Amino acid sequence: LSHVYKDIKKGRHFKVLVNPFGGQGHAKKLWETIAEPIFKAAGCTYDLTYTTHRYHAKEIARDLNIRLFDAVVSVSGDGVLHEVINGLMERPDAIAAHKLPIGAIPGGSGNALSYSLLGEDHGSHVTNAVLGIIKGRAMPVDLCSVTQGQNRYFSFVLQSFGLVADVDLGTEDMRWMGEARFTVAAVGKLLSQQTYPCEISYIPVETNVDKIRAEYNYRRQQSVVWADQTHDELDQSHPTIVDRFGGVNAQLNKSDGWVTDSEDVITAVGAKLPWISKGMLLNPASTPNDGLIDLIVFPKGTGRMNGIQIMLGTETGEHIYHDKVRYMKVKAFRLTPKNESGFISMDGEHTPYSPYQVEAHPGLISVLSI
Ligand code: ADP
Ligand code: MG
Repeated sequence: LSHVYKDIKKGRHFKVLVNPFGGQGHAKKLWETIAEPIFKAAGCTYDLTYTTHRYHAKEIARDLNIRLFDAVVSVSGDGVLHEVINGLMERPDAIAAHKLPIGAIPGGSGNALSYSLLGEDHGSHVTNAVLGIIKGRAMPVDLCSVTQGQNRYFSFVLQSFGLVADVDLGTEDMRWMGEARFTVAAVGKLLSQQTYPCEISYIPVETNVDKIRAEYNYRRQQSVVWADQTHDELDQSHPTIVDRFGGVNAQLNKSDGWVTDSEDVITAVGAKLPWISKGMLLNPASTPNDGLIDLIVFPKGTGRMNGIQIMLGTETGEHIYHDKVRYMKVKAFRLTPKNESGFISMDGEHTPYSPYQVEAHPGLISVLSI
């Protein structure tokens, strides 16, 4: 498989997935008018599919002949990428398939990966994203496994409960607004002061925000480790992708260092990426390959003024210093909702309202990045 990721040639060959439903329905136009001409000019070739239904991208990734392509490229939001990753991970050859690089062209309303790769100012720029796909290298990025009921699947952006999940999933009727729907809905929810009963258990690695920030700054100065150097090592460290901390149905093993909080929250979000949407730098110390999950909790009783301050802080990441916010690095966490119904979002996709456990796995996916 080495040719797939090691020695990406000049005129790359891609599997391209365009979701005509993504975002405000502009993905097809973005592909035809901006992305496709650049791919052609760069001598790249592709096999194109317009997705026609939910899980279509997952089906394609599951059955794809990975040896034919240098990368899978999605023109949509995080949802299609979530499906691609889960399709790859469901294969019998998942350990090989996870090395197939993924390319993201922002064409959805939630483009967390694009913002996290290209930054706040360029996250929605199709041209920049395309250049990263034509010229970039494959970077290993951690992936989270999620167990819920009898199911196990993977999440690469965020697992959210409470306000953030409501904003993500409870605003489908505001799609016409584009990315602004998240901000508008978040402010409304904060003012309503709604809290969500739950119990959260986690295995903390660092809970001191200053130390988290210092570690992040240190990592930023190190050179990025690219896929061709690390995947072989990674394969030896996890020949099978097993959960070290059991799943959601296992007893919490005290010796793993679990801590449990049982107060209501405004929101609780586990994440692997810094930007969760435009203007929302929710996890400013998130790094793609520290092998940890950033867990952020807004406890109940924050108050409206603090809520608005925190909300404003998320534009720059300053909110993590707010004394009402808990921001930590964890190996795994488990969230158990204590009420009947509500929203849980995995990478912006609906999931049942039931307990879930999340665990980070180092470098399980490859993402094309400049
Ligand atoms: P957005 O950021 O706008 O939500 P996503 O990439 O997350 O964009 O995609 C949203 C959803 O659209 C995903 O659940 C995906 O499975 C679904 N989808 C893909 N193709 C289609 C289609 N042709 N019609 C309706 N939904 C689709
Ligand atoms: Mg989505």
